[in-house]
Amino acid sequence: DLAQLDLKALVRTIPDYPKAGILFRDITTLIEHPEGFRESVERLANAHRGLGITHVAGIEARGFIFGAGVAIALGVGFVPVRKKGKLPGQTIGQNYALEYGVDTIEIHDDVLDRQHRVLLVDDLIATGGTAIAAVGLIRRTGAMLEHAGFVIDLPDLGGAAKLEAEGVAVNSLITFE
Ligand code: IMP
Repeated sequence: DLAQLDLKALVRTIPDYPKAGILFRDITTLIEHPEGFRESVERLANAHRGLGITHVAGIEARGFIFGAGVAIALGVGFVPVRKKGKLPGQTIGQNYALEYGVDTIEIHDDVLDRQHRVLLVDDLIATGGTAIAAVGLIRRTGAMLEHAGFVIDLPDLGGAAKLEAEGVAVNSLITFE
C-alpha cells in the first residue's frame, strides 16, 4: 500500500556535509526510488487541490525536481525561482542573507500578476530564509501566495513557523527533529 510507504526511511542523512557539524538530509535516495518519488509528488499535490492554485513556483535546484511534478499533477504551469543571472528575460530579484554573505533569487517579471495564486515548493525548509525571500519576490508581482509545500521540514530551525507568521500555510511530508 503506497500510503504506508515510509518516505522518511528513503531520505539519506550525510554527516558533516557541506561542513563539519551539519547533518545533510539527502533526497537523491528518495527520488531514485520510483514509488518514493511518485508518492512524494502525489502527497504534495493532494495537499493543495481545490485551492485555485494557478502556478507552482519551485526553488532552484531541488525545488525544480518536486515542483515540476506537482505542477503536472495539479494541471498548472511551473515558474522557476532561479539563482541570479540564469534567466534570459527581464527579471525581478530578491536578496536574502546567507550564513556568510548574501544571495539573490530571481523570476521573470512578466509571468505572474494579481490574477494568480501560487504554490511554493522546495525540497526542504530549514531557517526559512530562502522560502521567505521567494514569498516576498512572488508577492511583489501582485500574485497571491498562501501555500507552500516541502518534502522535509526541520522544525527546530523555525522556518515553517516564520512562513506561517507571514500568512503562508505550510505542508511538509517529513520532519527531522
Ligand atoms: P533555509 O533557507 O535555511 O530554510 O534552507 C533551505 C534551503 O537550503 C533549501 O533550498 C534547501 O534545498 C537547502 N538545504 C538546507 N539544508 C539542507 C539539507 O539538509 N538537505 C538538503 N537541502 C538543504
